[in-house]
Amino acid sequence: MSFLRIQNAVKQFGGLRAVDDVTFSLQRGETVGLLGPNGSGKTTLINLVSGALPATSGVVSLDGQRLTGLRRDKIARAGVARTFQLVRILPSLTLTENVKIAAVFGRNAHWGTAADQVAQDALAKVGLLDRAKLPASELTYIDQKRLELARALAAEPDVLLLDEWLAGLNPTELAEGVALIRQLQGGGLTILMVEHIIDAVRALCPRVVVMNSGKLIADGPTDGVLSDPAVVAAYLGEETDA
Ligand code: ADP
Ligand code: MG
Repeated sequence: MSFLRIQNAVKQFGGLRAVDDVTFSLQRGETVGLLGPNGSGKTTLINLVSGALPATSGVVSLDGQRLTGLRRDKIARAGVARTFQLVRILPSLTLTENVKIAAVFGRNAHWGTAADQVAQDALAKVGLLDRAKLPASELTYIDQKRLELARALAAEPDVLLLDEWLAGLNPTELAEGVALIRQLQGGGLTILMVEHIIDAVRALCPRVVVMNSGKLIADGPTDGVLSDPAVVAAYLGEETDA
């Protein structure tokens, strides 16, 4: 049974089809890598799923519930959380405050001390609990990324959308980041992750889908897809005649 279904998704920006008739589904608990060269439409697709942008056409549904057309806060309530390619933390607020907002507006609409507890748990999961009372502006880049993830987790999602969450980390941080995502797997969480770092994709994603110029050009087990000549050609910027 498909859990997250993306059916014939289209997003048109003027004359550009940034997402061009994309269809694929995720099973509950699956982690799928979303790959493709720069400008291929990955972030736009994430935006359609999270409700950050309205779709031109097509349908996204979660466990049979139609998400397309819902406001983004309703989509968060339905169980979808995401991180942003460029982190969007609130620098003047403390870590706890940053994360608590997500607990309030997330799946279970926590309030008061319950929201504090969920925020604490999320900060603990990403290793930031000891700095909970600091303003977010004092964090290093990796820790800002951790905070972004904590915010997504505090929404207690069923579906987590990661947009290049591992980008820009040094090798040690990357290993920590991969280990952190691995800890999130297996608890029933469904993860769709945009990622360019192939070692991380191989480590975390048994299956990948690949976009090129808005279109889905591959969907299958990671090793097979990564050796598919059409996928290799897309990454090399060559013409694909598909
Ligand atoms: P990716 O994440 O794969 O690098 P994006 O989804 O960010 O790609 O962008 C896909 C295409 O859509 C690009 O050509 C980009 O310039 C264009 N695009 C993205 N967002 C907008 C927008 N808000 N308005 C107009 N064009 C956009
Ligand atoms: Mg992007």
